[in-house]
Amino acid sequence: MTTSPSTPKPRSRLLIALGAAAIVACLILTGLVTRMDQWLYDQLGPLVSQEADNRIVVVAIDEKSLSELGRWPWSRRQHARLIDELGRIGVRGIGLDLLLSEPALFDPEGDALLARAMGRHGKVVLPVLAEATQVNGPLVELLPIPEFSASVASLGHVDLAADDDGVVRSAYLRAGQGSPRWPALALALSQLDQPLAQNDDLPGERLSDQAQASPQRWVRDHRVLVPYANPPGGFAQVSYTDVIHQRVPASLLQGRWVLVGTTAMGMGDTVKVPGQRGGRGLTGVEYEANVLNMLIQGSAITPMSLGGQLLLSILLVSLPMLLCGFAAFRQIWRPALATIALTLLLSLLLLQFARIWFPASATLLVLAIGASVWVYRLIRRTQRAAQTDPLTGLANRNKFNHALEQELRAIQRTHLPMSLLLLDIDHFKQLNDSQGHASGDAVLRLLARVLRGRARRPRDVIARLGGDEFAVLLPETSAQAAATIATTIHVDLANLAARTERALDAPPFTASIGIHTTQAGDNLDSAEVFERADAALYQAKQAGRNRSVSHAPAMP
Ligand code: GH3
Ligand code: MG
Repeated sequence: MTTSPSTPKPRSRLLIALGAAAIVACLILTGLVTRMDQWLYDQLGPLVSQEADNRIVVVAIDEKSLSELGRWPWSRRQHARLIDELGRIGVRGIGLDLLLSEPALFDPEGDALLARAMGRHGKVVLPVLAEATQVNGPLVELLPIPEFSASVASLGHVDLAADDDGVVRSAYLRAGQGSPRWPALALALSQLDQPLAQNDDLPGERLSDQAQASPQRWVRDHRVLVPYANPPGGFAQVSYTDVIHQRVPASLLQGRWVLVGTTAMGMGDTVKVPGQRGGRGLTGVEYEANVLNMLIQGSAITPMSLGGQLLLSILLVSLPMLLCGFAAFRQIWRPALATIALTLLLSLLLLQFARIWFPASATLLVLAIGASVWVYRLIRRTQRAAQTDPLTGLANRNKFNHALEQELRAIQRTHLPMSLLLLDIDHFKQLNDSQGHASGDAVLRLLARVLRGRARRPRDVIARLGGDEFAVLLPETSAQAAATIATTIHVDLANLAARTERALDAPPFTASIGIHTTQAGDNLDSAEVFERADAALYQAKQAGRNRSVSHAPAMP
């Protein structure tokens, strides 16, 4: 491990940017982060939600209506009465979200009355259902009976397209069997007074595979994300039976869009909406009210195209590398964190002001992982620096103390001896004074190199304890082996002394070595081991320097 700082090159910045771009593109193209995007949308979506428009009223077939008007299904005369009553009040349009695809076998007169009432009113929209004929089977189109279809102002599909987690986030403004020929029910209702918008005028993501659609297949187009009202079920609601019995003030209904549907427990679909925790979802008619709300407020959210997503994501993940100056390479996690905040803000602003949904999970993930790896590397480097002697690159006293404790514990497990060499350069003060401090430093580095060459096992620790004092910790090493290593160190220094005259810029020098070998049964603590090696070193100095003295018992 070296402490020399990695030298950042523009090329490595470019490589990191390219790598990040490739990962983000993969994440987007494989759809691996779809669930995360859905989660993100569910968190950000409510921040841009709007109020339920008071021009929309739900006429609910609720428990009260069932108890007053009898069990479902009702005679269609009832619906004819409702439409006549709503016509009398003067509503803006009626969306009758009811299944009317079979004639009433025992009450053809009721069907005729309803057809006439719808014709008279002129502003009734009936649903086209997309129904699976079998579990997970293809969807087929279910139209109202021809008598009704001929009497209404318009037909609109009520296809509910849930995401794979069962939550309904989108609406398809057009759909149908074979071709997307039906507008959504809410769209048909909102456009009763005007010619139906052509495809080009409609918002939403275009779905490109229409050309290959078989005539049997249910196809969808113009996908938009529905900004649910806050709260999603917060639309004005009146009871069907109250309308029929004229118990609702006309002012509540006049000039409004009316959606008629079932809300009683156990009747009809329930729609799971984003952010909904437990509880019951929306009813089908409440969902239609939300789509209508979106259309009349012009707040439909269009998902960003795949190309746009890729481009923006790649730009954002490369941004930290492009922004970060050469010198601040190590600090790249900072612009990365700033870019995470920027991405979230951008996502929210696009949603709020451009009504565009940018699924940013892939970008956020790549930036977050990048920043974490960078911070981790920085911490590791700082930790390493705290354990290293800057002049020689050897372990410092801290690390040595830690290693000594650790190896003493290991002896208890392995029952193998451990040797400690303490070295001190001879007459170093003098050498410093005569040759200069720089030469002294060169000597220290040279000794470090010699020691590295002689203690090569992975668990060996070579440390500079301070000044001209060094330690070599040799786990699983006998006294004899330690003495041999000490001798080779003296020989190396002698050989160097012969060469220094010519090649090296360090003057010749010698060192004294104290050796202590700890055996399994010794039960010495680290301070005692150190003191013994130090005493041996003192003896070596006393005995004339440039030699080793061993304190250990002769042989294990
Ligand atoms: P002895 O043989 O008894 O060890 O004599 P000595 O002169 O080596 O005495 P001592 O070990 O006490 O000397 C330590 C000297 O090491 C003192 C100081 O000038 C020098 N020294 C300590 N740290 C550094 C350093 O980082 N660089 C250099 N060049 N010299 C240092
Ligand atoms: Mg010395």
